[in-house]
Formats: sequence, structure tokens, C-alpha cells
Amino acid sequence: MNAPFTQPSFRDSVDRMFTQAASLMDLAPGLEEKIRVCNSTYVVRFGVRLRGEIHTFTGYRSVHSEHHEPVKGGIRYSLGVNQDEVEALAALMSYKCALVELPFGGSKGGLTVDPRAWEPNELEQITRRFTYELSRRRLISPSQNVPAPDMGTGEREMAWMADAYKRLHPEDINARASVTGKPLRLGGIAGRVEATGRGVQYALREVFRTPEVLERAGLSGSLEGQRVVVQGLGNVGFHAAKFLSTEDGAKIIAVAERDGAVMNPDGLNIADLQSHMHATGGVKDFPGASFEADSVKALELDCDILIPAAMEGVIHAGNADRIHARLVVEAANGPITAEGDEILRQRGTVILPDLYANAGGVTVSYFEWVKNLQQISFGRLERRQEEARHALLVEELERLSAHTGLGWTLSEGFKQKYLRGADELELVRSGLDDTMRTAFQQMATVQAEDSRVPDLRTAAYIVAIRRIATSYGALGL
Ligand code: GLU
Repeated sequence: MNAPFTQPSFRDSVDRMFTQAASLMDLAPGLEEKIRVCNSTYVVRFGVRLRGEIHTFTGYRSVHSEHHEPVKGGIRYSLGVNQDEVEALAALMSYKCALVELPFGGSKGGLTVDPRAWEPNELEQITRRFTYELSRRRLISPSQNVPAPDMGTGEREMAWMADAYKRLHPEDINARASVTGKPLRLGGIAGRVEATGRGVQYALREVFRTPEVLERAGLSGSLEGQRVVVQGLGNVGFHAAKFLSTEDGAKIIAVAERDGAVMNPDGLNIADLQSHMHATGGVKDFPGASFEADSVKALELDCDILIPAAMEGVIHAGNADRIHARLVVEAANGPITAEGDEILRQRGTVILPDLYANAGGVTVSYFEWVKNLQQISFGRLERRQEEARHALLVEELERLSAHTGLGWTLSEGFKQKYLRGADELELVRSGLDDTMRTAFQQMATVQAEDSRVPDLRTAAYIVAIRRIATSYGALGL
């Protein structure tokens, strides 16, 4: 019989990864501890009268670090929510925001609830009541604490929260900036829903532009034809899989979901698979794919890139030595435990760590928050002016060409693209792409310049901790 193993808690795992990085740094005495610990965690129990009786719900909002305010991070609805998890996630938010240079501290919230067990109008009542509890303690506020979607929540819940906040603070002109991830019509931003999956795509593209990292992973060429396994076809997994397959030519050879995994070595059609899931409630019986009821087995498939996009702790001491992927992209938060991480590192697996790989969501949340504060959408002032200037240049080139008798003509395709000013979605994607590229290169440089830095995760933590330490230093701590 195998010796039973106990998994470290999520919080322990994050702390161990943090401590490993901090041990390679020269932090002022006591500063390591100050940065590591969660500043506060608020636990609330509140009752809501539903279906003829009072139901008591437990909610959390943890604030990890307030070196920048507001603090930022999602709110999760799941039966698995607990204090340890929320604190681990809040800590990851601090490091994530620091790594991708967002002016936020880290926070995270959660409600112990199964969102599928309640009707939308019931969930709305629960959400509005939770928002009231958060607001009373200033744990939702455009200047202090800005929630966003996470597992089990989305645009709908954010709309309820924003509306509940606005009713409680009708005089706050910045009320819309109290929550991000809102629907477009209620002050959201184009590209927020796809943002985390889009960020995963941009991260992978940057890996394939960086030969030394690609080589370390034992991969070569481009994303085209790479065999990818995705765990979880929720918002993040779906968008990552869709973009990688339809825009970069990667083959999604397996998708693992709640009810099992579907596989096709020639690649699955992700949009069709999602429609099938909506229609049937699961991936089973998806036409043209084989099925495996034990969905975690899919993690162990022979593939090039593994994208765990579901939940924490799925790769651990008990299965890490059976992971075949050469490159693992942590689209979820904390999918690999500290022990699993150690085993994978010894096997030479390259890991794009969560604080980097899934930072696309909060990055676009930042753009939304800025948009709400400036009360105008991106591109509204410049777009037509940009088009007019481009038209000027095209006309001038055509005039010169005719004048000199060279007879050059600009292709229609070029003109169409060049003459159109960027809209909000294009600007958001451009800002996200820039963010993901820059952070990747910063991590890669830290690893390249210091032989003691064993992997990209440690490098990412070093970049993040350095920035947080500098902020605390500037505050006199
Ligand atoms: N919940 C997401 C995360 O874990 C997004 C947070 C945000 O947008 O504030 O990064």
C-alpha cells in the first residue's frame, strides 16, 4: 500500500513558495514576515430569508497587503471556501498585482455557497446582503477595496454588487469603480470576460518568443500543432483553449471537466464542446471524442502543454511524478502544491506560475477601474483623430507615388487596417499583451541573472516581493 500523504494547506503552499524566494533576497529584518502575513480577514455570518426559512451564510474578505490602495481581488462562490483558501488567494493577489505593476494591494473574498443550488433571484438577495456587510466595513469601495469575479461569480454578481454599493452610497460619483468585471452596459470594459484566458494566450506566445525558456521546456517551433490538455472549461479554460486553437493552431487534445475528460488526438473543437456542455451539463458523449470518467487522469496524458484552469491543489505529491507535460501553465490559482512544484522542478518541467499566468484578469480589471474613474471609455477622444491622421498619410503617399510616376499603390487590406482607429477592445488587448510580455521578460531576466533562482515561480516572487518591499520602504517601514 502507498504511504498516505498529507497535503500542505493552500496557505502553507503559497507561504513556502514565498519563503523560498525571500530567502534569496536581502530584505530588511522583519520585512519578510510583514510582507508574508495577511493584514486582516473579516468573517461574516448573515441570514437571508429564502424558501420560507432563514438560511445562514458565511462570507470572507481577506486583505493581504495595503502597500497600495485600493486592494484588489475576486469574490468566489463555492462550498469549498474557507479562511485558509481566501487568505492564500489574497496573498497571491498582492504578488500578482506587484508582478504586473498594478497600483493595488491584494485582497480576496468568498462566500460558502453552492451557486447552483439557488435560483438567480435568491442569489441576488444573498449577494446584495453580502455587499451590505462588506460595505459597512469598507471592504468594498472604489478607493479602498475593489472586488471582481472569481470561481462561481461573473458579470451578473458584479452587477448586483455594484448596484447594491451605489444604493448605499448614492453620493459617490465613483461608485461604478467599486467593483470590476461588470457588464459593459453597467460600466464594464470590453475584453474583461475573455481577459484571463487571453492573458494565458499572450503568456504562451511570449514563451514561444523566448528561445532559452522554450528550450528548457524541451519545446521548439511555434504554438501551431502543440498538444495541449486543459483542465476546466470555465471562463478561463474556455477562452484560453478557444484562442490557442483557433488563433494559434494549437491542438486541444483533451479537456477535463467535472463529469470526466474528453480526448481527441487531432484536437477538439472548443466552441462545439462548450455548446455540448451547455446542452447536456457535461462533456460526456461529445461526438468524435473518447471519454474517460476519471477526469484527473487527463492531467497525466502525454502532451506538450498542460493548462490547469479549474482549482487549487490538483497537482500534488501524489501525482506530480505522473505529469508528462513539459510546460505547465497555471491558469487557475494554486493548482500545484509546494510539494508537487518541487517534484515537477526536479523533473525539469517548466511552470508558468499562477501569479503571472492568470494575471490577465486583474490587469483588465485595472483598465476597467481606470475607465470608471475617468468616466470615459478608452479611445473615445482619440479614435477619429487617429483615423484622420492616418488618412492624411495615405493620401500623401498616394499623391507622391502618382507625382513621381512610381505607380505604387497601397493594398486595400493595408489601407483598411491602417485607416481604422483602435476601439476599446483593441486597446485593452494591446495593454494586456504589453503587460504579459513585460512581466514575462522581467521574470526570465531574474532567473537568467542569478543561478540560485531555480524557476520562473521563484523569479516571479522575487520581482513581486522587491516591488512590495520598495513600497513599504517608501512608507518608512
Ligand atoms: N479573480 C481574479 C484573480 O484571481 C481577478 C481579480 C480581479 O480582477 O480583481 O486574479
